[in-house]
Amino acid sequence: MRALALLYHDVVEGDDWDATGFPGPAPASYKLERRNFESHLAAVSTAAARRGTVSDLLRGGDEEPPVLLTFDDGGTSGYSCVAGLLERSGWRGHFFITTDYLDRPGFVTQGQVRELAARGHVIGTHSCSHPLRMSSCPWDRLVEEWTRSAGVLSDVLAAPVEIGSVPGGAYSPRVAAAAAAAGITALFTSEPTARCRSVDGCLVIGRYSLRRRTPARTAGALASGRLFPRLGQWCFWNCKKAAKAVGGDAYVALRRWVYGGVLAGARRSPPARRLPDRGAPAPERPEPGVQRGRAAGDQIRR
Ligand SMILES: [Zn+2]
Repeated sequence: MRALALLYHDVVEGDDWDATGFPGPAPASYKLERRNFESHLAAVSTAAARRGTVSDLLRGGDEEPPVLLTFDDGGTSGYSCVAGLLERSGWRGHFFITTDYLDRPGFVTQGQVRELAARGHVIGTHSCSHPLRMSSCPWDRLVEEWTRSAGVLSDVLAAPVEIGSVPGGAYSPRVAAAAAAAGITALFTSEPTARCRSVDGCLVIGRYSLRRRTPARTAGALASGRLFPRLGQWCFWNCKKAAKAVGGDAYVALRRWVYGGVLAGARRSPPARRLPDRGAPAPERPEPGVQRGRAAGDQIRR
């Protein structure tokens, strides 16, 4: 099974980068200015052979791989800007909500989530707290992040929420296994691949990430399914993955230094709903088919 899923975050008016989603320079590098996003959408709409949602994938079939548009974090721009632009172009998006931030400044409200779903958009979980390195979380914490966030959204929508995306791109098969244990049936990662796979019955779907400086023509080329632009992202992503595997915590420290420690010291106040202090970490469940220790898929990204 194949899919061409594109990963966006927030869309801002002018240069007000902190108005929506997580504040700071690192998250801002993943946000697009509105006119730039409109150019992306036009290019993607022209190039996409087939528009779809995750429901098309879960239904199966041998058709052309659909293009899926996804938006991480749950910033308020998903409601105030992105959804309307998508609808005008005949698209429906996938909005992944970080549930500890629901109703907080810069993030969507419960009512807005309900309205997005009523307008035909897909709502999924992006964890409760957006851990910096989800693949390093103990097993119990992983299951809690998926279970509680999906439960919050299911309560908001009065309907089951069974899809999710991995925060920070920190994917490992154990993260997917925990999602499966929490009842997630489809999980989006940040691995730039069109090939879907299954972990414990959960469909794992890669995505191609678009950033502030990504040209619209690149978004169109990725949506067209052409090999060369997809190969470029794949090579870059794997080089970065190797750097993280070698650098470990040093990579995190370097990235924090470069971006000014934005996630640790966000200007906005911390979320009201915090995960409880779990004391000593629970023993981790071994990765399905993967050696223990630092997971090969570890990455630090929004
Ligand atoms: Zn995120």
